[in-house]
Amino acid sequence: MSKLYALVIVDVPAMQTNHPYTYLVPKQLHDQVAVGKRVIVGFGKGDRHVQGFIVDLREDLPTQAGVTLKEVQEVLDLEPVITQEGLQLSDWLADHTFAFKIRCLQVLLPNALKAAYSKTLKRLQPLDDPQIDELFGQSDEIDLAQLPAQFQNQIIHYRHQGKVEIIYHVKDKVAKKQVPAFKLLLTPEQLDQVAVSPRATKQLAMRDYLKTLEFAKLYLQKPAQEASGLTSADFRTAAKKGWLEQSQVEQYRDPYADKNITATKPLELTPDQNFAVKSVQAHIDQKDNRTFLLQGVTGSGKTEVYLQMMAYALKQGRQALMLVPEISLTPQMMRRVKGRFGDLVAVMHSGLSAGERYDEWRRIERKEARVVIGARSAIFAPLDNIGIIIMDEEHEASYKQDEMPRYHARDVALWRARYHHCPVVLGSATPSLESRARAMKNVYTWLTLPKRVNGQALPKVELIDMRNEGKYAPVPDISNTMLNAIKDRLIKGEQTVLLLNRRGYSSFVMCRECGYVLKCPNCDVSLTLHMDSHSMRCHYCGHEEAIPQTCDSCHSRKIRYYGTGTQKVEEQLQGLLPTARIIRMDVDTTRKKGAHERLLQAFGNKEADILLGTQMIAKGLDFPDVTLVGVLNADTALDLPDFRASERTFQLLTQVAGRAGRAQKAGQVLIQTYNPQHYAIQLAKGQDYERYFQTEMGFRHRVGYPPYYYTIQITASYDNEAAAAKKMFTIAGELGKILSPQAQILGPTPKAIMRIKNRYYYQLVIKYKHEPLLEDYLKGLLIQAQTEEKKGLKLVIDRDPLNFI
Ligand code: ADP
Ligand code: ZN
Ligand code: ZN
Repeated sequence: MSKLYALVIVDVPAMQTNHPYTYLVPKQLHDQVAVGKRVIVGFGKGDRHVQGFIVDLREDLPTQAGVTLKEVQEVLDLEPVITQEGLQLSDWLADHTFAFKIRCLQVLLPNALKAAYSKTLKRLQPLDDPQIDELFGQSDEIDLAQLPAQFQNQIIHYRHQGKVEIIYHVKDKVAKKQVPAFKLLLTPEQLDQVAVSPRATKQLAMRDYLKTLEFAKLYLQKPAQEASGLTSADFRTAAKKGWLEQSQVEQYRDPYADKNITATKPLELTPDQNFAVKSVQAHIDQKDNRTFLLQGVTGSGKTEVYLQMMAYALKQGRQALMLVPEISLTPQMMRRVKGRFGDLVAVMHSGLSAGERYDEWRRIERKEARVVIGARSAIFAPLDNIGIIIMDEEHEASYKQDEMPRYHARDVALWRARYHHCPVVLGSATPSLESRARAMKNVYTWLTLPKRVNGQALPKVELIDMRNEGKYAPVPDISNTMLNAIKDRLIKGEQTVLLLNRRGYSSFVMCRECGYVLKCPNCDVSLTLHMDSHSMRCHYCGHEEAIPQTCDSCHSRKIRYYGTGTQKVEEQLQGLLPTARIIRMDVDTTRKKGAHERLLQAFGNKEADILLGTQMIAKGLDFPDVTLVGVLNADTALDLPDFRASERTFQLLTQVAGRAGRAQKAGQVLIQTYNPQHYAIQLAKGQDYERYFQTEMGFRHRVGYPPYYYTIQITASYDNEAAAAKKMFTIAGELGKILSPQAQILGPTPKAIMRIKNRYYYQLVIKYKHEPLLEDYLKGLLIQAQTEEKKGLKLVIDRDPLNFI
């Protein structure tokens, strides 16, 4: 046989290149290597073993003839873990986001394969090879690590014939929860016959209760205790008497399995909805990768439109991929998608354990799941025949990943749609300026849902001018007008949602004598007060210390808390309304797995009158009894040094206003603000996206920002400030030589928060329209910067950055 060479992208920190290295494939591995599999290869002088991905196989030596090549040491996978599509996608990702190819391949790798796992080999039918069959012995599953090397090729062969299967056993870091359960050992008739002393009241009660249950069926003990009023001791006694058998069962790995999801049927569409669905269907039929912007006001029934588009793709034998922002992947949204497509749905989000993710990934791979819904990284789901990609709330900043590869899920969606020849639907009530501008130029097809489905008008929004009302407010963050409106809902038995905008905002400690603010010793930010742990914490590095009693600087005791935390507002509100039932939702109350959905469910069941929370309550919630939405502090994000500050404020206020009056009862929205004249707040009041779009586009045009210009941000950091600044000035100088006069460099400047974890950050932003030399320069910069990593440099290149702070 002729020679075989593998082109491998290797994983060697600080020595990344986007060129593959060539390795010789030894004869005995010829049958095992394949494009998309991971291998172990030797690297460098010490020939240390590193992992890599095979991106190509050749029979002729591609380059460097005459050089002695190292050999592939080991093939890690029995089947490729990266598909052909994945290889092409990673090439594009590396190029487009200025990333190392190895990082792009890794982002495509299913999470489960990054976690710790072991592999077993499962025999699906007899293998007619006595030696191999003997390995299995009595069982049908053996540990793959025990498989002697000489059988490897034969096993691959069996795998292709479908005679064996490789199973990954993901080691779940989250220990699976065991809960007590029981089943009846006696039938109701038999229970009647057991002797119980008339004085043993508990046992009598137990017997009566058990008679209401089904024989031999497995029941969870906790709900049974609640239903019967009996204790776990009573159940133990019953077990001792042989009435029932106790056991421990695993808590469901499917986090939605016990949620009692009821199946739903497609609704009859309104004419606007129908037009949108039909338009997209035509492009599914034609296998055309058209992009649509579906702009629908809050409550206009966008989700129903998504569901029917997805159903159509499935009917055509294709698959559907739906992206939602992490924080709107709420139980409500899940219920709607699972209610329509049932077991065909795979869910991917960060709340799942490694094992749960692996299960979902396997279901997609086996084609049991044909609908995938998930947050950002779900865009890489291994679907092979996508018929539609939907991206809800397309304006959300969380679609951009803020570590390498710094991709925007929208760009990946458009790439995959080209590959699969399918339409993309970008949905929002408040589209990003970029997308809306593209719709105006007919790059995207614009679809609108201008009216709410229930015929209700958009809720009435009123501004409360805190410059006046603040003076008379009963507590600093809640004005009389707001308080009276909440009281009114309490009397009527209706619900209130209160938003505390926390972006760029925190409760900090300041000395009233000298103005000293307690700051993190490692970062340039003030420490945040946390009442639950009675400590001061840094949100950037996690540093934690005690709440000070005296000022560090002047030793005065007049040190007090400023700013607003959700906890503090909750306390104040409870003080004003002692009987109100309040649910607080913020990072502290939602840290535990499942807490987010438990709180929302409780609110949905009307176990509370008021839902008080941060941004996470602004999206996607659909509660019919919410008639009042209050925003306590509309302005906090307006002054941030970011040209999108006003866009984000407008979007947030419009989204949260949309939570009110979604069913029969009309809604009211009250916004407390210190900047009632600001255009973002004025136009959010009118929920007037069109005028907002015009105004903001005018501003962007005047100052030369996206969507009129492209932007690229470069950030350098070192553990000393002068080195960081010097690096950025060097880069700015080099850029000056290659950029045309049409481009602009903003900076270099220290970042708004210059120091984090004792590293100093300097940045510059390039604004440009067309710069032929720029891409190559930046790619070179990325590779070259690695040589300075030993000296402590970290360099980041971010195309279309969403965060300038
Ligand atoms: P959006 O996502 O645009 O804010 P939703 O999809 O949440 O709006 O829809 C708002 C409400 O209207 C939901 O309760 C939904 O079930 C209902 N709805 C949507 N479409 C229809 C329809 N065609 N007929 C009746 N009700 C509908
Ligand atoms: Zn810190
Ligand atoms: Zn002081």
